[in-house]
Formats: sequence, structure tokens, C-alpha cells
Amino acid sequence: MPATRPDDKQVMQALAAARGAVRRITDFALPPRCPGCGAITGEVQSFCLSCWRELRFLGEPCCSRCGLPFEYDSGEGVECGGWLSNPPAYDRLRAAVAYGEIARSVALKLKYSGRPGVAETLAHFMQRHLADEDAGAILAPVPLHRWRIWKRGYNQSALIATALARRTGLSARLDLLTRIRATPPLKGLGRRERALAVRGAFRVAERAKPALKGRNVILVDDVYTSGATANACAKALKRGGAARVDIICWARVVGGSD
Ligand SMILES: [Zn+2]
Ligand SMILES: [Zn+2]
Repeated sequence: MPATRPDDKQVMQALAAARGAVRRITDFALPPRCPGCGAITGEVQSFCLSCWRELRFLGEPCCSRCGLPFEYDSGEGVECGGWLSNPPAYDRLRAAVAYGEIARSVALKLKYSGRPGVAETLAHFMQRHLADEDAGAILAPVPLHRWRIWKRGYNQSALIATALARRTGLSARLDLLTRIRATPPLKGLGRRERALAVRGAFRVAERAKPALKGRNVILVDDVYTSGATANACAKALKRGGAARVDIICWARVVGGSD
């Protein structure tokens, strides 16, 4: 008879670790596939031609703060009207692609398969959007509520943050922020309702505060829609001592609220 019985948490963690190991093995053994549609590409971290054409990669010219694409180059450091009228708690936002059908399907693939290979692909396209100010910053994923991590076995944003850390040499702190309460789905809610739904939902772990003081943080997310979650996270990070918070995500909604 075993001396001690593992508690639920230990069992869940062991299961999650086993699932992760299986995913890593299958990632290694299978031919590289397009993360958009699943077609065999023969090349790692690349999309098939048809998905590539569908994806809208973001870049200059854009708002110097939130990265919203501009039709014309208006010069360095220009901010969009949305930022000027309602500046969020974070300092800068960048996304690799505009949210659309393929971008969404890639995000869902990572969310429900947890394949590190997909996270690597996203990190590959996100990495180029890091700013000069991000040198020496701490990478931190948008946290999931612990019940959701136990259910799924991983946090998709943490997989991306880990891949980004490996590529950039920056350090990732997966435990920096915690989600202290589960939040309802934000889809369909208005701007104020979203902000209310996530208010006070995030907190910097007490033990992480000394390491955070005066540091720059890059918050890593898969999809940015209304910004309510990212904003609540940035507020918590700044309250916890961060000097600057930049957001980097795979896809962001461009135009419209959702
Ligand atoms: Zn494809
Ligand atoms: Zn902007």
C-alpha cells in the first residue's frame, strides 16, 4: 500500500505532463503540416500557399502605440484616434496578423491541440514585432483560471511565451500573473460590460513582486479582441510594480469591436 495517496492536483499535473510528452513525440514524428488547414507543407513553421495568401500580416505603417494599420504613412510616432481618446493601461500592442478565418483556425489549433510546434510557428511570426524597449523585458502569458489549465493541461499563451523565450533569450515567468477568478466569455458583451467582467480578475503573485519592480513586461496572448483582458492584465502588472507593459499577440481584430 502506498504511504501517501497523491492528491487530485498531483494527479492532474502528472496527466498534463504525460499529455505534453505525447504531443512532443507526435510533433517530432509527423511531417510538418500547415497550421492553418493541415495540408502537408514539407517545411516547419510555414503555411501552405493558400493560407499564406489569406493571412493578413501586419506591419508599418501603423499606430505607434496599438499597431492599428494606417492607410498612409503619417510619419514616426503617430497615434491613432482610439488611443488618443481612450489610452489603455498598456504601452504598446503588436500582433502578427489581423484576425480572420485562417488566423482563427490557427489559434484554435493551438488552444485545443496544445502542440508546441504550433506555438513555435506563432512565435516565429510574433518575434519580429518586439520593440527595442523589449530588450531585457520579462515575458508573461495571459493566465487562465487554474481549473481550465487542469482541464486542458496547458495554457496556450504560456506555450507561446515559452517558445518566444527560447527564440529571444528573454526570460519567461509563467507564474507572474494569476487569474484569481474565472471570467465569463466576453463575446457579445459591450465595452463597459467587458471591462467590468474582467475587473480585479488578475493579480501579480506576491512572490513575483520583488522581481517585477521597475521591469518591463511583454504580455503574451493568442488573440486580442476588445482588449479588455489585456488591459486588466496590464493594470495588475503596473500595480504589481512593472514600469512598462507591451502586449504581443498572434492575431488582433482590426476594425469592428469583435
Ligand atoms: Zn494551409
Ligand atoms: Zn492606436
